[in-house]
Amino acid sequence: MTDHIRPESSGAPTSPFGGLKIDFGTGGGSPFGGLSIVGDDAAASPLAGGPVTAIAGGAPTETKVLIIGSGPAGLTAAIYAARANLEPVVIAGSAPGGQLMLTSEVENFPGFPEGIEGPDLMKRFREQAERFGTRFFDLDVERVDLSGRPFRAWARGMEFVGQTVILATGASALWLNIESEQRLRGRGVSACATCDGFFFRDREIAVVGGGDSAMEEANYLTRFASKVHLLHRRDGFRASKIMIDRTYGHPKIEVHTNVEVAEVLGDQKVEGLRLRDARDGTEQTIPIDGLFIAIGHRPNTEVFRDWLETDGKGYLLPHEHTASKIPGVFIAGDVADHRYRQAITAAGDGARAAIDAERWLESEGIADHATQTAW
Ligand code: NAP
Repeated sequence: MTDHIRPESSGAPTSPFGGLKIDFGTGGGSPFGGLSIVGDDAAASPLAGGPVTAIAGGAPTETKVLIIGSGPAGLTAAIYAARANLEPVVIAGSAPGGQLMLTSEVENFPGFPEGIEGPDLMKRFREQAERFGTRFFDLDVERVDLSGRPFRAWARGMEFVGQTVILATGASALWLNIESEQRLRGRGVSACATCDGFFFRDREIAVVGGGDSAMEEANYLTRFASKVHLLHRRDGFRASKIMIDRTYGHPKIEVHTNVEVAEVLGDQKVEGLRLRDARDGTEQTIPIDGLFIAIGHRPNTEVFRDWLETDGKGYLLPHEHTASKIPGVFIAGDVADHRYRQAITAAGDGARAAIDAERWLESEGIADHATQTAW
């Protein structure tokens, strides 16, 4: 059911750990396998005057349920909406699949007792959504108009029209954005301790950050690592006192304050860090095998901010259940959740949003309801 796919990014990191290879694209095909494609902008562009329906390679871009985002939240919403005969369209992003595409083994998603690779899990989500008729467009949304039904979104010159829309664009981990860190992502540099900690059994590693995430990840990583260096750029922490105390009290954690990562050392994999003292600029190197960046996340909400309320960090604020303050616009997953941030909680949100959207369409006389709920 995929009609238009052309992930443009070729710069995605290769496998995080353990030889996992993620292919986003250019020559090797999509991570979802067998995706035909696209990219015929001429055919895809809406006509002057703005049609409500663009036909792109035969795929209608007008739908009862338009879903933006293709992580666990967006794809679960698609499965539910598709099974309710709502023929959803997913604008999946140019690097579809969300954060799990940058993850190696997932061991805490129910139903996979042996664990499953993150990209494989997302491939299954997507196949399940496609099986029931979901249409996918692997494009990045550049603009939306949520002023009223039908709602509109634009991506690479194509206009998408939805009677209802589910926003599930997730959040992205923040990075230090130094060259060596980016080069070694997937080769010992990670932003997810729960995903990748396992690969550092009996190794010495470091965590960067001074918030609850960094403390939590440092403590979690002591299950595997022989030693964890916690590196923070100031001497004051944002983390809660209990987490600070636990971190300082842990025999495997060494806390370094007033240090910045000047360079991640290593050619093919992480071998050490060059650290700079934030006060006097003096430098030292330490040998480590892994570096975990835990300096926060950024919700992918830029294109929605003119339309919807966000909290101080840019996360969308649901109004009631998954409904936003705009009737017909629903919110699911990490785009509104900086607390749990789990694949399973995002998937649950996606199901809730699809059911809420279905009920709303029914109340507007656009669709009959199909999903049985207790209310
Ligand atoms: P956060 O509280 O915003 O902390 C981010 C940390 O990263 C800060 O210490 C910050 O340093 C540092 N940082 C930011 N950019 C940096 C850079 N470029 N280089 C070096 N360091 C940098 O983020 P978070 O820890 O992810 O927590 C987010 C929210 O989730 C918080 O409300 C937190 O309480 C919550 N949370 C709760 C739990 C829990 O309760 N178990 C667990 C995780 C998260 P500065 O302090 O110098 O700015």
